[in-house]
Amino acid sequence: TSTDTPMLWFDGELASADSLQAPLTTHAMHYGTGVFEGIRSYATRNGAAVFRLPEHLQRMRKGAELLGLDFDVERAFEATLETLRANDHRDAYIRPLAWFGTGSIGLDVSHLSQHFMVATMAQRVHLAGDRTRLTVSPWRRNPASALPPLKLCGGYVNSILAKREAKSRGFDEALFVDDDGNVVECTGANVFMVRNGQVTAVEHRDALPGITRDTLIKLSGAESRTVTHHELLDADEVFVCGTAAETAPISVLDRREFGDNPVTRELSALYARVVRGEEPAHAGWLTAV
Ligand code: PMP
Repeated sequence: TSTDTPMLWFDGELASADSLQAPLTTHAMHYGTGVFEGIRSYATRNGAAVFRLPEHLQRMRKGAELLGLDFDVERAFEATLETLRANDHRDAYIRPLAWFGTGSIGLDVSHLSQHFMVATMAQRVHLAGDRTRLTVSPWRRNPASALPPLKLCGGYVNSILAKREAKSRGFDEALFVDDDGNVVECTGANVFMVRNGQVTAVEHRDALPGITRDTLIKLSGAESRTVTHHELLDADEVFVCGTAAETAPISVLDRREFGDNPVTRELSALYARVVRGEEPAHAGWLTAV
């Protein structure tokens, strides 16, 4: 049943969100020592279903392992479904988070408490299609050699700096480019381009291996390779993609304006059908709630 106060999963059970608190000495709050995921569920003809849930939780497990957080994929899987059911959410954004709690304020995490939560938020049906104004960021992406591209909480400070800077100049979103002029990704989305009908997924070692990106490569047969900033300016269409954004066409990249985007539109529509279970060939990507 859905009530005004949402139910959260916290450390093994469901609880009302307003009954939960974290101590001010929470390690993750001081040092970013947590890992999270961003997942979506959709209303399908056969009820609510989560899109590529195992893949999201496997990525989360990798981040947890790196930090030294225990993470049980099976239990996280069940907790996610339980939370969606408790809130009666169908079209929803799902946010699992695992983090270090209390025990010490030092940097050794080996004796800290560990916690796990899942929140779900009702999401309006389709965010996609928003035309996004993109600008090259003066910030560099966290290099993989310093902070691997997993969904580690602290890593998102880098995204937030770039997002703030882009917005301060009137843009919607920042594009990370590396020292060699290669495109990395956006603050929370991967990048694609279309040129002469060829769809190309931007590949970069510092970019998060996006699950939407992987889905779109499989759906379109897109090539995956290094792409320069110059090539992106020369493309016919550019779009970004991620679980939350789905696919978002780029209307401007700094002073370059993009016109009609027929390939992006077609791929977006296909993606929208796939996540809603309207493409039987890809029903295997959905977990029934
Ligand atoms: N890059 C970053 C930095 C992100 O935060 C996200 C969102 N998780 C993505 C790319 C897209 O990944 P996905 O398609 O798995 O949501």
